[in-house]
Amino acid sequence: MPDRVFNFAAGPGILPIPVLEQVRRDLPSIPGVGASALEVSHRGAWFSSVIDEAEANLRELLAIPDGYHVLFSQGGASMQFSMVPMNLLRGSDAAADHVVTGSWGAKAVTEARKEGTVRIAWTDAEERFVRVPDPHELLEAVAPSAAYVHVTTNETIQGVEYPATPIVPDDTPLVADGSSDFLAGPIDVGRFGLLYAGAQKNAGPAGVTVVIVRDDLLELIPDGLPSTLDYRTYVEHRSLFNTPPVFGIYVVMLVTRWLRDDVGGLAKMGARNRGKADLLYERIDAAPSFYRGHADAGSRSVMNVTFRLPTEDLEAAFASEAAERGMVELRGHRSVGGIRASIYNAMPLEGVETLAAFMDEFHERHEPPSS
Ligand code: PMP
Repeated sequence: MPDRVFNFAAGPGILPIPVLEQVRRDLPSIPGVGASALEVSHRGAWFSSVIDEAEANLRELLAIPDGYHVLFSQGGASMQFSMVPMNLLRGSDAAADHVVTGSWGAKAVTEARKEGTVRIAWTDAEERFVRVPDPHELLEAVAPSAAYVHVTTNETIQGVEYPATPIVPDDTPLVADGSSDFLAGPIDVGRFGLLYAGAQKNAGPAGVTVVIVRDDLLELIPDGLPSTLDYRTYVEHRSLFNTPPVFGIYVVMLVTRWLRDDVGGLAKMGARNRGKADLLYERIDAAPSFYRGHADAGSRSVMNVTFRLPTEDLEAAFASEAAERGMVELRGHRSVGGIRASIYNAMPLEGVETLAAFMDEFHERHEPPSS
């Protein structure tokens, strides 16, 4: 594919080239179908096999235990900020315990408060979101009687990620926004009551959201919700109550197939991602007064590497010079500034190596060694 940049965007983000090539081959006509994925019925045999494979691939990759439903929704993770409390909090006497480790977790709180009582069980907002709670801090912070505990496994804006699946009291459902580290490595799905993820980082294009929910949580859902906002509708209709995002689910199917067949599963993907992230964090650790990492070492994101330079002018120069060399979208989120390198699954090692070399060179140019 000519003219490809190294796309460090936070999402929609980079997709695997074999997937893009398959999409291109299937345009304007899927063999045996005679029309493209943009044009076919969601009730036809072809799409039926696509959605079945997407679900089966997710189940295999994530080793999803029995008793969990895999749903495909629209409305992004933002709609899940509302749907989770509508389904699991509305009408409950208990509070939802939210652990807020960044901007997305804070937005989830805003929406949940419209549906019931929310308690901020733990946050480091005053320290500008630099870490996640240690396992024992988390266990102490949450109330075993909470309706559920809500966490954001990876805060895309701050670049703060749980190093392992968070552990909450046994009977308290763990609900997680996993949008930006979904499929980045193995996770223990059995620890979650509900996990949701917008596809547009690691799993596919914008427009489809994957929800994995444990069957017993469906019993908490109050009657009377709008059908499209009730998880039971998705379960009963296998995500086909209304027209689903056909194209998005087709690409999720291709991405999960790529993860299974080309990458060889999530353990391998996780190791590859760790290696890529280490390359950038090594640069930060080698020049901490020039590249100031945002996250504490134990909470560093493998997906979104965030750091500051000594001045905003240098940050602007860094991003624009990198762009001239084909490394784009390195500016941090507009709310926090700085630099953010999003290195999702599909970012090749070569892209990260090119960025790491640029970091060395930029540093040398702007702060020559003092010896
Ligand atoms: N949660 C996280 C962790 C995110 O990174 C994002 C998007 N960047 C969202 C929620 C919101 O997703 P959407 O725009 O799909 O609603």
